[in-house]
Amino acid sequence: SPSAIVINGKAEAKKIKDDIKIEVSRMKELIGVVPGLAVILVGENKESATYVRNKKKACEYVGIKSFELLLPEDSSEEEVLKSVSGFNDDPSVHGILVQLPLPSHIDEQNILNAVSIEKDVDGFHPLNIGRLAMRGREPLFVPCTPKGCIELLHRYNIVIKGKRAVVIGRSNIVGMPAALLLQREDATVSIIHSRTENPEEITREADILISAVGQPNMVRGSWIKPGAAVIDVGIKRVEDSSTARGYRLVGDICYEEASKVASAITPVPDGVGPMTIAMLLSNTFTSTKRFHNFQ
Ligand code: NDP
Repeated sequence: SPSAIVINGKAEAKKIKDDIKIEVSRMKELIGVVPGLAVILVGENKESATYVRNKKKACEYVGIKSFELLLPEDSSEEEVLKSVSGFNDDPSVHGILVQLPLPSHIDEQNILNAVSIEKDVDGFHPLNIGRLAMRGREPLFVPCTPKGCIELLHRYNIVIKGKRAVVIGRSNIVGMPAALLLQREDATVSIIHSRTENPEEITREADILISAVGQPNMVRGSWIKPGAAVIDVGIKRVEDSSTARGYRLVGDICYEEASKVASAITPVPDGVGPMTIAMLLSNTFTSTKRFHNFQ
């Protein structure tokens, strides 16, 4: 049976990071500016701590200075807002990222609204998302995970224009902006969510399928149109005592089956995950260039 091209997100992310690294050092040499990324983490969510650690490592690799702020779980909304506004006013910070989810006593909306849109490298400010949704408008930043998905399609020469695209999931951080981006690239887009009836009938029409749910192996081979490009954003830890950590990461797509039907597919891990971080670095560098009028 035919087998899909494996979309190597890890390798593409490495290329992007290496390009950014060169550009960052050139910027430092020419104008003496070092890009800065502030990361605010509230509380002790284990997975969030891992993400923050990976982001910090990636910043170090490319030469972006990271400012990490760890606030206690019981911090008040005012305290978090104060930290955001401190970074808004700090000229050595060009990007601000508030690691989600926040503890439940803090209103996520209020915090995201407070991030300066010029430093909103996660692209979660309602003004940036609103512009993403509007024709003829340009957001200053696009959310990193969906941007990474589109970047992978481009890098593998997968045509988007005129194609049928289906996104599974409609969250503010992945599904919804992924659908908006595909539409901006002239795909005809359908969105599937938890209330969708017979989702497999819709996914079978998709030339491009992006899944962002977090349900291991939900998408079976039979859901996929032969020759489709399949991007798996889902990551779920599944217990596995045969591994050193005691778990392994599983995507939404049943890879075994799907890779026999699709023409191209991302693995989990090493697919979309590394691209998300590469896009964060790219957004931070773009922001720095914009602040300093650097070409
Ligand atoms: P959310 O939980 O916020 O959203 C999940 C979406 O999936 C919702 O829109 C929900 O629908 C939909 N959904 C749930 N169950 C079903 C179902 N049975 N059929 C169809 N749709 C369903 O998750 P996120 O968007 O934040 O993340 C999605 C996945 O992507 C997670 O596994 C997460 O870990 C991963 N992720 C990976 C990243 C990466 O860098 N690779 C970055 C961010 C996330 P409804 O709206 O109706 O509730």
